[in-house]
Amino acid sequence: MKNLIVLSAPSGAGKTTVARHLLQHFPQCAFSVSATTRPMRSGEQHGKDYFFLSREEFLENIGNGNLVEFEEIFGNFYGTLRSQTDQRIQEQALVLFDVDVKGAVSLRNAYPKESLLMYIAPPDLSVLAHRLRSRMTESEEQIAQRLSRAAMEMEYMGHFDHIIVNDKLDITLAKAVSVIEEELSNT
Ligand code: ADP
Ligand code: 5GP
Repeated sequence: MKNLIVLSAPSGAGKTTVARHLLQHFPQCAFSVSATTRPMRSGEQHGKDYFFLSREEFLENIGNGNLVEFEEIFGNFYGTLRSQTDQRIQEQALVLFDVDVKGAVSLRNAYPKESLLMYIAPPDLSVLAHRLRSRMTESEEQIAQRLSRAAMEMEYMGHFDHIIVNDKLDITLAKAVSVIEEELSNT
């Protein structure tokens, strides 16, 4: 059984929505809390959504070998902390990761036997733009930045074990649950 569930998608495709649902549906599943240098959004909590670090603290963690992988995205660092993975892998615990497409590939390279890569795709790029605007958490400039990265992110789809097109949300959530249930049955 692959116990590291790696969720990835272009920004705005619905990854956070899917991740929240999966964590509710599978109470035994832990969330890998990443480190980031980006500012906290309203409603986010340090240690729950991310560990919000200064650039200096982040660089120190890189230097100390505390990160399994990291990327610079939209001018900020994001990375997976070894403290979120190593012990859980030993315990074969179910863990959910919300990382960008390159981070997903790096996690699979780090843990090839344990990683299951799931890609949440938007129905098309205009829907992505609409969802980002209606979320109202980024400025127009930040939205443009996220959309310009989306084309690269779509090219990574082929690296993933499962691709779910997030059109109707209830269908997407059901598909994501069934991917994990199928994996859990492979003991
Ligand atoms: P991501 O984490 O991939 O950036 P979010 O989960 O924050 O994306 O979703 C972006 C926005 O789109 C949110 O406002 C969310 O409520 C909305 N959304 C997610 N999935 C759907 C869907 N299937 N249909 C319509 N809106 C959606
Ligand atoms: P956001 O700022 O919207 O929370 O995240 C921006 C992007 O960074 C998303 O694609 C998210 O999945 C990605 N991200 C979050 N944590 C990590 C991480 O630890 N590693 C990598 N590579 N990407 C991450």
